[in-house]
Amino acid sequence: MQDFDLLILGAGASGLFCALTAAQRGLKVGVLEHMPSPGKKILASGGGRANFTNLSVQAQDFRSLNPHFAKSALAQYPPKRFLEWLDDGGIEYHEKKLGQLFCNRGSKAILDRLIEVNLKAGVQVFTNAQGIEVALATDPHRYKVNSSQGDFAAPNLVVATGGLSYRVLGASDLGHQLARQFGLKVTHTSPALVPFILPGFTPLAGISLPVEIKTLGRSFADDLLFTHQGLSGPAILKASLFWDPGKEVEVNLLPGLNLAEELLDLKRGNPQKSLFWALNQRLPERLVLLWQEAGNWPLKPDLQSFSQKELAHVAAKINRWSFVPKGTEGYIKAEVTQGGVSTDELSSKTLETKKHQGLYFIGEVIDVTGLLGGYNLHWAWASGFAAGRAIKI
Ligand SMILES: Cc1cc2nc3c(=O)[nH]c(=O)nc-3n(C[C@H](O)[C@H](O)[C@H](O)COP(=O)(O)OP(=O)(O)OC[C@H]3O[C@@H](n4cnc5c(N)ncnc54)[C@H](O)[C@@H]3O)c2cc1C
Repeated sequence: MQDFDLLILGAGASGLFCALTAAQRGLKVGVLEHMPSPGKKILASGGGRANFTNLSVQAQDFRSLNPHFAKSALAQYPPKRFLEWLDDGGIEYHEKKLGQLFCNRGSKAILDRLIEVNLKAGVQVFTNAQGIEVALATDPHRYKVNSSQGDFAAPNLVVATGGLSYRVLGASDLGHQLARQFGLKVTHTSPALVPFILPGFTPLAGISLPVEIKTLGRSFADDLLFTHQGLSGPAILKASLFWDPGKEVEVNLLPGLNLAEELLDLKRGNPQKSLFWALNQRLPERLVLLWQEAGNWPLKPDLQSFSQKELAHVAAKINRWSFVPKGTEGYIKAEVTQGGVSTDELSSKTLETKKHQGLYFIGEVIDVTGLLGGYNLHWAWASGFAAGRAIKI
C-alpha cells in the first residue's frame, strides 16, 4: 500500500493542474491514469494547437443546471493567471478570433510543461493503471484505491476522469460510476459541441458560410459547415451545447442583411432577371439550387413575376431557416459531455463533495460544460486550481 496526501484519478487537464497546485503547497500527490501516457485530450485539443483559454471567460459561457456554480472557481483562476503560467514557461500563444487563445508551438508545449513542473514538484504519475476501484476506509487514509499498478491510500481523493467523448483518447464513465457509488446525483449526460445530423444536404457538403444561429434562447454568430451527414462548423457546435433533442434550431443564412428589402431592390433594378440570379448574388449556387428544388418558393421566370409578399416569404426561408436536427453525431465526434456530477453535491469554492470529506470532483466530469472557444480547458485549469489550493491534510 502506497500512502499519499492526495490521490487524483485521471492525468488530464484538470487532474494535472490540480496535482501541480497541491504539490506546490507541499502535499504528497499521486495521480493514476489508465492510458499509457497522460493528457491525450490536451494533445488533441484545438486540432493539436490547444485553444487553451479565452480572453473572456464567464459563467454564462457554460451550461449547467446551476448557471452560477462556475463563478467561484473562475474568479479564483481568471485567464490572465493561466497566461502568466505560460509566460513563466516561455510558451508563446496568439489570439485566433473571438478571444480564443492558441499555442504557437502546439498543444504538446502545454502538456510537456505540465508534466515537467509536476515532476519537479514531486508528483508521482502512475500510467497504465487499469481497473481502478475505490473504497472508503477509516481515518487518516479515508480513500483506498486499488488498481493494476498497485494499492494506494490517501485522506483526499480527486476524481478528474473527464467526460464520455472520444474513448480513443481515454474517456470512460469511471467518474460518474464513482459519484453514484458515493451516493451523489449525476445529471442527464449527452454529447455536446458536436455536429448535427440532418439528412438531405449532401450536395452542399464542404460549403461554409457565416451565419447566426438560435436555439432555446441562445444565439451565436459564427461559421456553419454543410457536411455529408448534416451540419457542423463552430456555429453548430456552439448551438449543440444548448440544444435538446426534438427542439427547433433557427439559422439566418445571411446575417445582417434584410433580404426581403434587397430582393425588392433587385426586382426594381432587374425585373427580368431570375430569382435564382438574385439569390446567387449573396449565396452559393449549390445552396440556392437545393433550396429551390426543395420547393421553398414557386418557380417563376423572373423577379417581376414575384409579388412583394412572395419575395418576403422567399427571404424568410433564408433569413429564418428553421429545422429540427435528427440528432447529433454522438460521443464519437463530440468534443465534450454535457451534464455530469450534479453541482448540488459540490462546494462551488473548493469542488469538495458536501457528503464526503476529502472527496472532490473537478473538470468535465461535473455538470459544467463550456462553449467552443477555450472554455472547457479553462474550466479544467480553474476547477483543478480551486480544489488543489483547498485540499487539507
Ligand atoms: C478532439 C477534442 C478537441 C478539443 N479541443 C478543445 C479546445 O481546443 N479547447 C478547449 O477548451 N477544450 C477542448 N476540448 C475539451 C477539453 O479537452 C476537455 O474538456 C478537457 O480536457 C477536460 O479536462 P478533464 O481533466 O476534465 O478531462 P480529460 O482531459 O479528458 O482528462 C481525463 C483523464 O482521465 C483519464 N481517465 C478516464 N477514465 C479513467 C479510468 N477509468 N481510469 C484512469 N484514468 C481514467 C483519461 O485517460 C484522461 O487522461 C477538446 C476535446 C476533444 C475531444
